[in-house]
Amino acid sequence: MRYDALIIGAGMSGLAAGIRLAQAGKRVAILERHYLWGGLNSFYKRGGRRFETGLHALTNFAAKGTPNMPLTRILRQLRIPHEALRLAPQRRSITALRTSAGDTLRMSYSNDMALLRSEVARLFPSESAGFERLVAALPGYSGSSESDYAQSARARLADFVRDPLLAEMLMIAPLFYGSPTENDMSWAEYGILFRSIHLEGMARPEGGIKALLDLLIARFEQEGGELRMKSGVAAVMHDDGKVRGVRLDDGSELECERVLSSAGLVETEALCGRSVASEEDARIGRLSFLESCCVLDRAPQALGHDVTIVFYSDGERFRYERPEVPVEPRCGVITCPSNYELREPDREPFARVTCPANYGYWKGLSEESYAAEKARAVDTMLDTAETFSFPIRPHTVFRDSFTPRTIERYTGHRGGAVYGSPRKSRDGLTALRGLALIGTDQGLVGVIGAMLSGITIANRSLLEPAGGAA
Ligand SMILES: Cc1cc2nc3c(=O)[nH]c(=O)nc-3n(C[C@H](O)[C@H](O)[C@H](O)COP(=O)(O)OP(=O)(O)OC[C@H]3O[C@@H](n4cnc5c(N)ncnc54)[C@H](O)[C@@H]3O)c2cc1C
Repeated sequence: MRYDALIIGAGMSGLAAGIRLAQAGKRVAILERHYLWGGLNSFYKRGGRRFETGLHALTNFAAKGTPNMPLTRILRQLRIPHEALRLAPQRRSITALRTSAGDTLRMSYSNDMALLRSEVARLFPSESAGFERLVAALPGYSGSSESDYAQSARARLADFVRDPLLAEMLMIAPLFYGSPTENDMSWAEYGILFRSIHLEGMARPEGGIKALLDLLIARFEQEGGELRMKSGVAAVMHDDGKVRGVRLDDGSELECERVLSSAGLVETEALCGRSVASEEDARIGRLSFLESCCVLDRAPQALGHDVTIVFYSDGERFRYERPEVPVEPRCGVITCPSNYELREPDREPFARVTCPANYGYWKGLSEESYAAEKARAVDTMLDTAETFSFPIRPHTVFRDSFTPRTIERYTGHRGGAVYGSPRKSRDGLTALRGLALIGTDQGLVGVIGAMLSGITIANRSLLEPAGGAA
């Protein structure tokens, strides 16, 4: 039994690629090591409650029928009607920064760019013209040049914005929502992230991640695709520089024409028999997070907090980096899913707080000390997060948290690197014919980026003869 294509990973990129290939009549299977799909963007049950990983916000919001937008393109390609997503737009989000003088600057935005424009004018009146020039100069989604990828976003921002505090604030949300590199990103990536967060906006499917994943799984199966859970790929088999198939963890083998891998760059190389990179390998991403999900006894709005997402920095320098300490409490993201414009209010509101964390520390902890250390680190995070939001702990009825170690365990990404390797393979090509990378290490991050990546590489493989690039 020979497959046209095998896909490693049932995350967002793997599911989107699978739907495209199955729609084209290809014999395709998605192979997932875990018993749940979704990868970095998944869900699990704890204490009788459903928790989510991954999705704080679906970026790239586009109202139904808006042409030429990434979301519109994805839905058309996957043949999913816009209304099936049941998107609830954000109410209002903020970037907050505490200055050395102890003041807190709060810059609001929504899915209407007019709000961000007016906030820049309110907080930094002399910067409005520079901000407009910045927006006009942003690189687009396609057609970025090699030099856009080589230039630092911070350096380019300084060409338009003179106040260092505004420049810092304009880096916070884009870095948090997709930079695989510490403290800076390329100008091309900045353009993509700024557009997806600020020019298009943020929303949440009613029903959260599970609702979105249910839609994708249903589409894949309707098109005749095969989803094989608990089917880890132990090796990619190849002869004479060309993919032949895969060997699963249980030793069984599957033959195929092509493999599309969302496992990651170094992880996929290891599957092909290349020596496993050491933890110091610069191609392993350093950015990972500790996230705590706090189930609340009432809606945050009832506590005076109506903000959907708060991106914060407790200091004029935003520390988007792997901390020396277990968790970096001085910056983070606070998300309140019930503060989207939901049609049906959440039965159990919750708040999620996410801060950069040190992978090595969490990886090295013994089982006995892990839970206690996690509880201690979460309290450190919440001490600061509450100063940017509301008293979360007095209203928490249940809490669950995950660390970089959990992320690595459930996704296979070395170092628990949420945005993958700093080295991207933007064409998805690998050293083997018939093997392509999709998802995070193909260069498109986030839920929308991963789906676009899966679609783009799958479409390309449909145009190529068997045995072609991928
Ligand atoms: C805490 C957190 C918050 C986030 N917040 C947001 C957000 O608000 N908005 C947003 O857009 N994005 C967010 N993201 C990022 C987003 O979830 C990811 O960018 C996206 O889901 C990546 O999808 P992917 O398909 O590239 O990879 P993954 O999700 O990593 O999927 C890869 C899959 O491959 C499987 N796999 C790996 N190796 C093997 C193997 N050898 N055999 C079989 N299966 C294998 C893994 O188990 C996994 O299921 C967040 C992520 C995290 C962790």
